[in-house]
Amino acid sequence: MSLSFTREAHPNPTAAEARTALLQDPGFGKTFTDHMITIRYTEGQGWHDASIHARRPLTLDPAAAVLHYAQEIFEGLKAYALEDGSMALFRPDANARRFNASADRLAMPQLPEELFVESCKLLVDVDKDWFPPIEGGSLYLRPFMIASETFLGVKPSSEYLYMVIAASTGNYFKSGAPAVSLWVSQEFSRAAPGGTGAAKCGGNYAASLAAQREAIARGHDQVVFLDAAENRWIEELGGMNLFFVFNDGTMITPPLSGTILPGITRDSLLTLARDEGLTVREERYGIDQWQADAESGKLVETFACGTAAVVTAVGKVSAPDFSFTIGAGGPGQLTGRLKEKLVSIQRGAAADPHGWVVRL
Ligand SMILES: *Cc1c(COP(=O)(O)O)cnc(C)c1O
Repeated sequence: MSLSFTREAHPNPTAAEARTALLQDPGFGKTFTDHMITIRYTEGQGWHDASIHARRPLTLDPAAAVLHYAQEIFEGLKAYALEDGSMALFRPDANARRFNASADRLAMPQLPEELFVESCKLLVDVDKDWFPPIEGGSLYLRPFMIASETFLGVKPSSEYLYMVIAASTGNYFKSGAPAVSLWVSQEFSRAAPGGTGAAKCGGNYAASLAAQREAIARGHDQVVFLDAAENRWIEELGGMNLFFVFNDGTMITPPLSGTILPGITRDSLLTLARDEGLTVREERYGIDQWQADAESGKLVETFACGTAAVVTAVGKVSAPDFSFTIGAGGPGQLTGRLKEKLVSIQRGAAADPHGWVVRL
């Protein structure tokens, strides 16, 4: 499949001086670059009208299917400016595959993997002046697809719009938050067997927000979700996977049971840990066991991982009827080492034995 992209000149790009000011402290997900990608899909015709143009508001009919039935999926990946001055994406092929797995679950069309990767590369190339010149800086890419047919009947849409936007990004969590505190959601589930938990879709996030609101109201950073059937097995956070580290040097991460998002950071860390000869089991781990192991000292570290924040230590876990601290409440040794190892590969500062870094 090859589609050629129409390039529309930006009528009014951000002036260099204004961009430099924005890039001093871009935050996460709010400092957007000048351009965007759009590709349309029409049933019977396939993908067409690929274009890169000025970032601008969409025109959608108020009866567009996505606005009513949430037929929407997305991806998140980062582009890095490497130490040798080149630019690279991290495992974009894995994002492309997962995008199609999500599309399948949401009854949406498949986007050829090479078109996904090409669209990401093109946007990075056109907006390459938007890499923030700060520690931990990157371009966060957000490819997504929405159901754009104007129709209120409930069925898979016959038209879709695929887009990629990009945001200049610093650290996800404000530095000075060395470890996050988690609230165990007892009332709300994120995903159930047979549901959409393994798909990266906006609907999962919408369903997680009441729990997140509760966590914030009680003074915690993030929610940890348990399985929907027994309310016992630890699944993941609203947008990050979890790893547990024990005092014998082994680790556990919950298995990809269909209710957990198959994180690419999770997969990368599993691979790096096994490369080091560490024992990592993909195994269910219960909230009762987590508390007992943290209190006995058998569990020494817990960390969350995902593209946006990379690796984040968990310091404290609370629920209505209990609360416990992990290790000394700050980032542990293995958490720090694995993070360093992954970030070094992503930034081109360490060897890349698995061929994860895709240069532009
Ligand atoms: C995106 C996401 C993750 C992390 O996936 P990465 O590929 O590592 O960024 C974890 N959980 C959920 C629910 C997600 O949406």
